[in-house]
Amino acid sequence: MNSPLRLCLREPIPEIELAAGLLEQAVAAHRSGQHAEARSLLERANIDAVRDWSESLWGKKSRFAPSGPYWSSVPAPTTTHLRMPSLVEQNTLHARDGYYCRFCGIPVIRKKVRERLRKLYPDVQVWGKTNPVQHAALQCMWAQYDHLLPHSRGGSNSPDNMVVTCAPCNYGRMQYTLEEAGLLNPLEREPRRGSWTGLEQLFAS
Ligand SMILES: [Zn+2]
Repeated sequence: MNSPLRLCLREPIPEIELAAGLLEQAVAAHRSGQHAEARSLLERANIDAVRDWSESLWGKKSRFAPSGPYWSSVPAPTTTHLRMPSLVEQNTLHARDGYYCRFCGIPVIRKKVRERLRKLYPDVQVWGKTNPVQHAALQCMWAQYDHLLPHSRGGSNSPDNMVVTCAPCNYGRMQYTLEEAGLLNPLEREPRRGSWTGLEQLFAS
């Protein structure tokens, strides 16, 4: 508990950016009618090292994620609102945070984009019910709306308690507070700015 606070549970690996670049190319190919090329790029973005990175962060055996009893005192939970923010609240968070994880900085992709890709390319392994049959990059980069003070411990859906994150940062921290997880508050630094727009161009005409 005395170790210095970190930006994220585990530094991202370069293969995640590589996969993001391939996905961006896949969407560009799709939009120009090159469907075989788009399919091939989607498959190339399904990188084992990315899956390994995600799996190193979630699950009880993770050596990067927090474990043990909660130790910080937080207000008694009085939460009655829904845990999942509304679409309007989600849009507000993306307007502030863009399409990057506020902890580790990797690109993220909304579920609706992934769903669209699954329908467009049903023969590519885009999504299934269990982790091993989900596309490694789409799984890792799945946009989450994470409560800084966890919802189960009284955290609200207000923008000063919520950030856009990737799935491993969200599921890795689970219900631990930032302090318990040894993490700096990501709202105390600027979000990453870049050209990544979450593949939302898939919906552009
Ligand atoms: Zn992250």
